[in-house]
Amino acid sequence: MKFKDVEFKTYFKNYPDSDGYFGKYGGCYVPRELKTAMDEIADAYYTICKSRKFINELRRIRTEFQGRPTPISHLERLSDKIGTGVQLYVKREDLNHTGAHKLNHCMGEVLLAKFMGKKKVIAETGAGQHGVALATAAAYFGLECDIYMGSVDIKKQAPNVARMKILGANVVEVTDGLATLKEAVDAAFAAYVKDYKDTIYCIGSVVGPHPFPLMVRDFQAVVGVEAREQFISMTGELPDAVVACVGGGSNSMGIFSGFLNDPVDIYGIEPLGIGTKMGDHAASLTYGEEGIMHGFNSIMLKDEKGEPAPVYSVASGLDYPSSGPEHAFLHDLGRVKYDVIGDEETIDAFFELSRMEGIIPALESAHAVAYGMKLAKAMGKGSILINLSGRGDKDMDYVIEKYGIR
Ligand SMILES: *Cc1c(COP(=O)(O)O)cnc(C)c1O
Repeated sequence: MKFKDVEFKTYFKNYPDSDGYFGKYGGCYVPRELKTAMDEIADAYYTICKSRKFINELRRIRTEFQGRPTPISHLERLSDKIGTGVQLYVKREDLNHTGAHKLNHCMGEVLLAKFMGKKKVIAETGAGQHGVALATAAAYFGLECDIYMGSVDIKKQAPNVARMKILGANVVEVTDGLATLKEAVDAAFAAYVKDYKDTIYCIGSVVGPHPFPLMVRDFQAVVGVEAREQFISMTGELPDAVVACVGGGSNSMGIFSGFLNDPVDIYGIEPLGIGTKMGDHAASLTYGEEGIMHGFNSIMLKDEKGEPAPVYSVASGLDYPSSGPEHAFLHDLGRVKYDVIGDEETIDAFFELSRMEGIIPALESAHAVAYGMKLAKAMGKGSILINLSGRGDKDMDYVIEKYGIR
């Protein structure tokens, strides 16, 4: 399938190019010391992703440790209730080990670290989801793991801090500045520059400098490959639409990559939070402009000074002021349609999916569910496949405290 001048049959061979560009987006904008480290990771990845041994080992781990393939569930009761005849389906990444899609790329990244002979993995975390997934992978492979976290977040995210510690990770408290995610990123990068010979920095989404947007997409692509096969064998055809939530953009790139070359409408859903004012949302592709941050060129939300803008969403996994360069590319191309869902509709969808289907979704995933339900009302016929990126256990206390039972 061709879209503007991009041929999707050969898309994965051509995008990104060898410098990590998807059109004008992507690249590797880092200080010289780090460029050496990124080049080393890129070289290793280009070799290893073609190695039978690496591929077979990752396949074995996915089956024996992660519990893949995860199933697709048909949401019969919810579809009936909507009543337009449109059938809703969810890809169950909530059933992936640790309860979300993030482990898919963390297992790949740490296996790569092991093949490269590294002794330690390092990362920052905000809400703690990436930290927990990486700590799990590090425990599995027997590598050391340092997770940088602001002291404010450490207080807020006690259960995830406990998980990381139980898994054997070293949680490094960062007290500089506002002591949240931004300071944790700076501290983790500073530690990495000092120690990159024995260490690998593991990025938690399809963001950051090349080769991370490429690698994380490739590791998440298993979601799209499985989903396409499963959907066809369940229904005999392709879905009419595929929907996923977009923070940094990894779970969405995973499922989208399975359907880019198909006649399927693809929707990426960003968090509108409590409104369109700066600071009230994190819908970077919808309201942002081109810019460079965290080592890559993409579409981002900027403040008056051109710095990354403050962002907000009820789903802490979605509050990032940009998205991966591949999303910016697919956005400009028009291959993926990006739209928004706010907090209120998200909370309604959280309860609706729980009540009607017995699946408590992560608040991130509930954005995609809310949009899928809206689309089902508008479409009139056909089928919609939603990526359920994670389970909602982590969000239950917060939802009940802030919104009560609906
Ligand atoms: C982290 C997270 C997200 C957002 O990250 P992406 O890279 O955009 O996928 C979505 N859902 C869940 C459950 C998460 O933990």
